[in-house]
Amino acid sequence: MKLTEAERDSLVELAELEMQLQKLKASKSRLEASDPAEQANAEFLEVSEKLSASRAEQEDMQLEVTRISEDLELVESRMLRDQGLIQQSSNSSEITGLQHEVETLNRRKGELETDLLEKMEQQESLTAIIGQLTAQKQSLREQLEVVEKNHDQELLDATNQLKELVVRRNELLESLSDETSADYQRKATRGVPVGLLREGACTACHLNLTATDLSAIRSTDVDELVHCPECQAILIR
Ligand SMILES: [Zn+2]
Repeated sequence: MKLTEAERDSLVELAELEMQLQKLKASKSRLEASDPAEQANAEFLEVSEKLSASRAEQEDMQLEVTRISEDLELVESRMLRDQGLIQQSSNSSEITGLQHEVETLNRRKGELETDLLEKMEQQESLTAIIGQLTAQKQSLREQLEVVEKNHDQELLDATNQLKELVVRRNELLESLSDETSADYQRKATRGVPVGLLREGACTACHLNLTATDLSAIRSTDVDELVHCPECQAILIR
């Protein structure tokens, strides 16, 4: 089979186009198989869990604060009652007993006040932590959206480029003779249909040709259509 100069040009472009197609198909499959949001998703879940735990801790803390405050109120009202009784009483042993109770209650009051202050300080730092985690969660959610959007865009770009290459391939195929085009399409169903002979290797299968094969190819007319002895692709010199 003889090739015209124009057919040869088309086949050179087709060989390059097929290489691009292979690369593009591979990167499209990689994009389809990968989950770009995996990392961001894991971080998002981690922060969400920490946030829930901190909120639960905050609720417990609030219950503690309420409990201490109620105890404090009780102690204070007992103290007031005892002080009233002391003023009304004329029995000295009763007064001594009541004074002793007031002292005990006063110590208890001091302890409860210390506890309350401590819990309120913890509550304050917990509120700050919750604020930080909430902001972190929001920023991760935004990051997640960006990552997913970029991934979708890359996939769309690859799909569009593939479509363009296929359109161009069909145009080039139409410029070939029926015979060469049929040969090309038959080979395309089995693998890369065309390759360039570069530095003794075929660009379709990337194999080095033996010295015997190379000299056989060189001995054929330059316009003769030859095939790669390794992969059977149309081989353009
Ligand atoms: Zn080959």
